Amino acid sequence: MERTYLIKPSLDGDYPVVDYGDGVYLYDTAGRQYLDAAAGAVTANIGHGVKEIIEAMNNQAEKVSFVYRSQFSSAAAEQLAEKLARHAPGDLNWSFFVNSGSEATETAMKIAIQYWQELGRTGKIKILSRWISYHGITLGALSMSGHPGRRARFTSLLEDYPVVSPPYCYRCPYNLTPESCALECAQELELALKRTNPETVAAFIAEPIVGAAGSAITPPPGYYKKIKQICDRYEVLFIADEVMTGCGRTGTMLACEHWGVLPDLVALGKGMGSGYAPIAAALVSEKVIEPIRNGSKVVMSGHTLSANPQSCAAALAVFKYLEKNNIMEDVESKGTYLKNLLVKLQRQYSFIGDVRGKGLLLGMELVSDKTSKQPFSPEMKVTERLVHLAREYGLLIYPAAAGLDGSSGDGVIISPPLTITKRE
Ligand code: PLP
Repeated sequence: MERTYLIKPSLDGDYPVVDYGDGVYLYDTAGRQYLDAAAGAVTANIGHGVKEIIEAMNNQAEKVSFVYRSQFSSAAAEQLAEKLARHAPGDLNWSFFVNSGSEATETAMKIAIQYWQELGRTGKIKILSRWISYHGITLGALSMSGHPGRRARFTSLLEDYPVVSPPYCYRCPYNLTPESCALECAQELELALKRTNPETVAAFIAEPIVGAAGSAITPPPGYYKKIKQICDRYEVLFIADEVMTGCGRTGTMLACEHWGVLPDLVALGKGMGSGYAPIAAALVSEKVIEPIRNGSKVVMSGHTLSANPQSCAAALAVFKYLEKNNIMEDVESKGTYLKNLLVKLQRQYSFIGDVRGKGLLLGMELVSDKTSKQPFSPEMKVTERLVHLAREYGLLIYPAAAGLDGSSGDGVIISPPLTITKRE
């Protein structure tokens, strides 16, 4: 392509043009094949070119592509909400549809604040979050995100900042080992709440497994139980940002289910529509919706394209496909198989410091010295070069950050479509 006016992530970057996708593979216009081991950005959960989804979207388009949410509902949106309620654990029965993960986390935060307003506790307006986190690129979501690289240019527009340390065992913020750990990083939430004054805090938001900012940082057992206990004790809602981890990515509908924890609100995105259409959601529990139903009855948020019927039809078809092919059931065993292969690589190469993650959300932290865990110097741009090199070989992996300051370290995420076979 000679001339282009498309603003891409890097204006002088070299981006192949994709022609079509088929299963776990993408093919560019030059005929090159890529194994999509990142599912794009941990998104194409059921792989590319699935006929059932395309048919469902076409059928919806033939009926109607758009209705405005303040005027009408649609069968696709109603059925999708019902489907999500059935898959989600506990009483997370209510869905508010939006178009991106950033909108989903912001919607969940707004609903948390509104919940307390409806109960007459209008002082509970703050949201607490952790360092080494990513909740989205729009300003409310970015305010809560502990991702220095993505915040740096816009600090003048950001309202707040994360305060709690991450559960980052490879680089424990308390310098503890699994043997000496008493979940001090979870306990830190209590301290943060006391310092902030819990009467001013509406909710705490966290990613069950830290994605873009931490290359699949996975908490130690018991971490989320403790977090939820502290939230309950101080009357603060727990928002699980499952935009990356949800919809089967780790083998369960929500990653929180692995640790037996039920959030009050959940943000979903990415795999929900598997990339076939822009769609995301805030899931709301009965506890949270009740005072709103009994009070103002209006959830104060929404976008023109919220609950777009064609996007809803795509996501509904994705869930039907997951069910019909029992895809979630196999994720844990496929994940263990892939993780073992990565551990083998780790033994072979001195620059793979850590292999982590759950299900088919796996990450590797890259270091210059495995023993000292010394990161590479940022000028070496190791992540960027590795991702580029892998693509030259026809393999797509996802560049992520690592390191306790969330910007100085290198890491990648390996997250193929859940439909991948062991052989692939
Ligand atoms: N939350 C998490 C955990 C994410 O990983 C992302 C995107 O990477 C977002 C929110 C933002 O989603 P989106 O890019 O769809 O706005």
